[in-house]
Amino acid sequence: MIRAIVGANWGDEGKGKLTDVLAEQTDLVVRFQGGANAGHTIINEYGKFALHLLPSGIFHPEVLNIIGPGVALDPTAFLGELNSVLSRGIRHPRLCISDRAQVLMDFHVLLDTLEEERLGKNKFGSTKSGIAPFYSDKFAKVGIQVSQLMDKDLLHERLVNSLVKKNVLMAHLYHHAPLDADELTEKYYALGQQLKPWVQDTTWMLHDAVKTGKRILLEGQLGALRDPDHGIYPYTTSSSPLAGYAAVGAGVPPWAITEVIAVTKAYSSSVGTGVFPSCITGDEAEELRKRGGDAGEYGAKTGRPRDVGWFDAVATRHGCLVQGATDVAMTNLDVLSYLDEIPVCVAYELDGERIDHFPATPSLKRVKPIYETFPGWKTDIRGETQYENLPSACRQYVERIERLIDTPITILSTGPRREEICYRAK
Ligand code: GDP
Repeated sequence: MIRAIVGANWGDEGKGKLTDVLAEQTDLVVRFQGGANAGHTIINEYGKFALHLLPSGIFHPEVLNIIGPGVALDPTAFLGELNSVLSRGIRHPRLCISDRAQVLMDFHVLLDTLEEERLGKNKFGSTKSGIAPFYSDKFAKVGIQVSQLMDKDLLHERLVNSLVKKNVLMAHLYHHAPLDADELTEKYYALGQQLKPWVQDTTWMLHDAVKTGKRILLEGQLGALRDPDHGIYPYTTSSSPLAGYAAVGAGVPPWAITEVIAVTKAYSSSVGTGVFPSCITGDEAEELRKRGGDAGEYGAKTGRPRDVGWFDAVATRHGCLVQGATDVAMTNLDVLSYLDEIPVCVAYELDGERIDHFPATPSLKRVKPIYETFPGWKTDIRGETQYENLPSACRQYVERIERLIDTPITILSTGPRREEICYRAK
C-alpha cells in the first residue's frame, strides 16, 4: 500500500508533522523530489527539528528512509543534517540514498545566487539552494549521478564537460572567477566516499517492497501551486511536488499509490510568494503570523516572515485536483481560535466576473478574492483528539470548506505535536 503526503497550496502546510505521525504505520518513507530548499518542522520526544533533506521517518527506528532518484542531493547539507540528528540521540537511523539521485554541487548554489543578483528586482525569491540550476543541468544531461561520484575519472570527465558553458557564463555574464574541475573532482570524490555506506539501488528495493506488501509513504516537499506545470509559473519550483510525479521521483508503480493525502492549513501562508490572492497585510496579518505554526509563520529554511492570509478554497480545490487527493489533512486549526469571525475565500472576481476555478498566472494576478465569513469558535482547541468534541462553529468551518474543496477532510491537526491530531471518518 502506498500513500503520498503532499501539499495542496504554496508549501509549509505542515506535511512534516503529518509524515512523522503517519510514519508510525509505515515501513518505508521516501523523499521523491526537491532538495534542501524547504524545511519540515517536526516536534517529538527528541526535540524540535527542521529537516531539509532527510525523510521525516528518520525518528522511527523501524522505518527505512529513502532519498529517491528525483531528489537534488547536496552531500554537504545531507551529511550536516545527518550529524545533527545523530548528535541528538537518533543512534541508528535506517537510511538509503538512491544511486540514481543526482548531486547538487556548490556551483549550483553559486549560480542560483549570482542569477538572483543579476535579476535584481525581477528575482524569483529563490532560497538560493541551487535548485533551478541543478534541475537545468539534470535535464540538459550534464548532471552528476550519485553513482558517478564513486569513479574519479568519470567524475572528472563529467565535470570538465559541464563546466565549459558555465565558465563562459562566469567570465562574461557574472564576472566571477572560473570553476575548477580538478578541485571539484577531489572534493566531490571525497564526499562520495562519505556517502557510500548509504548508497543503494533503491528502485529495485522499492519494487520489492511493493511486491511484498510493505507500507510505503511518499513524502512531498512544497505544494501543488509550486508545480512547474500546474502551479503559479514562473513562481514555481523546478521539480514537480505532485503525487503523480512521486511515482517517477521515488521509483514505484503509479497504480500502487492508492492514497493521496493533500495537506492544507486552516488559513493560508506562503514564503517567497509569487501570487497569493487572499494575502492580508497590516495588524491583522501580524497577529495571524505571530500565532501561526509552532512559533509564528517564519520560513523553516530562510527564517523569512511568511505572507499569511485567509483560507483560499479556490486555490486549495485546484491543489487537491492536481494532486489527485483522496483525503485532506487540515493543520493549524487551533491557530484560528482567537478570531471572532473567520473569512474564507470562496471564489474570485476576474474582470468583473465571478469564477471558481484557479486561472493561469497572468489572470491570477488580476483576481480579487470573494469572501464568505464564518463565526469563530473562541475556544482553545489545542490538542483536541476527538472531532465531536470540537466546538460546533469549528466543525461547521471544516465541513463548509470540505464542500468547497470537494475532497474529504479526514485528518485535523490541532497543534504542532505528534499527539495533537483528530481523525474523521469519510
Ligand atoms: P511543511 O514543510 O509542510 O512540513 O510545513 P512547515 O513545517 O514548514 O510549517 C508548518 C508549521 O506549522 C510548523 O511550524 C509546524 O510545527 C506547525 N504545525 C503543524 N501542524 C500544526 C498544528 O496543527 N497547529 C499548530 N499550531 N502548528 C502546527
